Amino acid sequence: MSTEVTLIYGDGIGKEVVGATKKIIDATGVKIDWDVCEAGAEVFKRGIASGVPEETLESIKRTRLLLKGPLETPVGYGEKSANVTLRKLFETYANIRPVREFPGIDTPYKGRHIDIMIVRENVEDLYAGIEHMQTPGVAQTLKLITRKGCEKICTFAFEVALAEGRKTVHCATKANIMKFSEGMMKRAFEDVAKKYPSIEAKHIIVDNCAHQMVRTPEEFDVIVTTNMNGDILSDLGSGLVGGLGFAPGANLGTGIAMFEAVHGSAPLFAGKNVINPIAVLLSGVMMLRHIGEFEAAYTIEQAVLATLEDGVYTQDVRKNEGAVSTTEFTDAIIERFGRTSSAWPKRDYKKIKMPELSNERAYVKTTSRKTVGLDVFLETTQEVNTLGADLEKIASDLSLHLKMIDSRGVKIYPSIGGLLPDMVDQCRARFLMNDDGEMDLFLTLKLLQNIGEKYSWMHTERLTVFDGENGFTKAQGED
Ligand code: NAP
Repeated sequence: MSTEVTLIYGDGIGKEVVGATKKIIDATGVKIDWDVCEAGAEVFKRGIASGVPEETLESIKRTRLLLKGPLETPVGYGEKSANVTLRKLFETYANIRPVREFPGIDTPYKGRHIDIMIVRENVEDLYAGIEHMQTPGVAQTLKLITRKGCEKICTFAFEVALAEGRKTVHCATKANIMKFSEGMMKRAFEDVAKKYPSIEAKHIIVDNCAHQMVRTPEEFDVIVTTNMNGDILSDLGSGLVGGLGFAPGANLGTGIAMFEAVHGSAPLFAGKNVINPIAVLLSGVMMLRHIGEFEAAYTIEQAVLATLEDGVYTQDVRKNEGAVSTTEFTDAIIERFGRTSSAWPKRDYKKIKMPELSNERAYVKTTSRKTVGLDVFLETTQEVNTLGADLEKIASDLSLHLKMIDSRGVKIYPSIGGLLPDMVDQCRARFLMNDDGEMDLFLTLKLLQNIGEKYSWMHTERLTVFDGENGFTKAQGED
């Protein structure tokens, strides 16, 4: 039985590194039926705005498996990346990047046996790209994090640990500052961890995680984290073990798996037959394990290590010191099939069990909810006390009260000890109901109408209490 895999060579060095990977995988004798498809620069130039043609999407829908090279968005042909299109269309919510020391590669960490798996949430967070200019000089990006997304990625991280026989999962968040969004990840992690008692679960603040990864990277095993944290930590990880030529990766979702290196199309090296194919090749090794071809994966992995141990390498490792070409390096790996290395002890890999979560859209249920007020974001340069007096009057006319005004999260009215931060032309006014009542639509619209007669508002947020818990945070200095 052969497995059908969609193959995209991609742009720049893609043809060379994906070509090398295909040749090495085929040489193991594993039966793969490659469906070669297009995406990237040439497709954009044909006027397909996504950079991914229908035939390619159809192929991936059928195979549910993709091995790909890097894709470019040529200047002047749309602003969206074909990579992001693929990840979003197929909801590959988990990005995994192994960070492991290679023999023969000189780094400041040589001999420390770094062996980390970074699990990055891949579809939520600031990367949803929901951005607005609140004023010409004040930009806003929405950081959307869901309980379901957090449970999925945390469960996935523990399943990765089980599949690879790992012992510890760290969850890196900024929950101390972003108590709702990053805090949701922390809380989901702590809840999910209870289902995996054999694995040690530790929360770590993400900045400390970066610090510890540089000081003692050998202490980490699996790290699970939100999208932007993961983007940064995983590049930090690549830097620890030899750079982009050694950084494989995979994007996984429910019933879908896409394998690709971290690096891009390195246009300066395209067509020169000098580039290091290891990152894409080890992404291919991850693919082989995903489809259950553990022996072939082991053969390739060990042959790569043996090749490096024999001092055979491409020019990125030690410039101008006997480096071989990409094709020579590819053949050198195939020649070493059957060799083993003590650098990476054999692991009892299993297939990663993908999480199965409820499909319910209202994933978290509440028994009660109440809208108790409204945050209104204003564009104004009005003097603060005048603004405060105006908004207090507007509120009292409607049986509301102005709780406070803040500037970028710091209360400015009433001010804290007469101090004001560096002011801009944007602020937020918080209005609350006077009594125990609910703020209805009529009152909301009336408030906005009355504010709008004197001030320009551009954004609002309802202040809701869910099951007795405030669904909004306080400003710095708000009581
Ligand atoms: P890049 O292609 O990753 O290349 C940056 C540098 O990294 C190269 O000049 C080279 O550096 C080194 N490098 C990359 N791959 C290597 C390999 N296999 N072996 C050895 N060294 C390697 O990043 P970029 O120049 O920023 O991006 C180029 C294009 O790729 C852009 O259009 C970008 O959008 C796209 N891109 C695509 C993906 C993707 O498809 N997933 C990811 C990233 C970027 P030295 O000069 O130090 O040797």
